[in-house]
Amino acid sequence: MPANTRADVIADPAGTLLALDFDGTLAHIVDDPTQAYAHERSVAALARLGRVLGQVAIVTGRPVRQALELGGFDGLDGLDRLVIWGQYGAERWDAATAETVEPERPEPVARLAEELPGWLAERGAGHVRIEDKGLAIAVHTRGIDPELIHELAEPLSALAGDLGLVVEPGRQVIELRAPGIDKGDAVRALVERLGARQVIFAGDDLGDLPAFTAVEELRHDGIGGMLICSASAEQDALVARADVVLDGPDAVADWLEALADEF
Ligand SMILES: [Mg+2]
Repeated sequence: MPANTRADVIADPAGTLLALDFDGTLAHIVDDPTQAYAHERSVAALARLGRVLGQVAIVTGRPVRQALELGGFDGLDGLDRLVIWGQYGAERWDAATAETVEPERPEPVARLAEELPGWLAERGAGHVRIEDKGLAIAVHTRGIDPELIHELAEPLSALAGDLGLVVEPGRQVIELRAPGIDKGDAVRALVERLGARQVIFAGDDLGDLPAFTAVEELRHDGIGGMLICSASAEQDALVARADVVLDGPDAVADWLEALADEF
């Protein structure tokens, strides 16, 4: 099935799921991830689209709480049906109920949280930033030591294997989390929940690839799909598979505004 276009979305807004990654897509990547606020124009456009599309969803590696803080989505007129699926879909927040459903912290993640500071220090990497997301632990090197991420990739992968965790590499970040759910599972579940006839997914990084695969597979099942890459100099893995390539979060905001203008 060929890629869907904006015309297909305009023809069937109620049957459309719009799912977006957060960092690098809705928000610029910045040195301090606690300051990565969503693009104001994107949030405003999503509030307009939330009134006409079947479902607007944020699918992010971040915990829900952070996406809410940095996105300013809560209580926004037009986003009263928004869903945020955090930690790759393991944690689910619904604007309609303002409730978050979160699984228990896996035991290997708790063990990792205890052991990781010492483990990093032994490898001369005690100065990286550790982020405890609850269901996952991330090691950040942005703005600290950009080469170190490559040196840590293999040993962290081995450590994850020892603990029964999986590795989620990203832009200057490596995350270790329990296996079992990825953004592809999240997109499939969101499509099913809505009974969506078409899905638009926008992302920028390796963690979005399973969602790209899910959309490609859904196309085979007759669900329309449009894949948007928020491009960066740091990561080009999504470009070749995207239907629409945009130049980072500013261009994503332009694109969302242009779509909202159609209604
Ligand atoms: Mg991202």
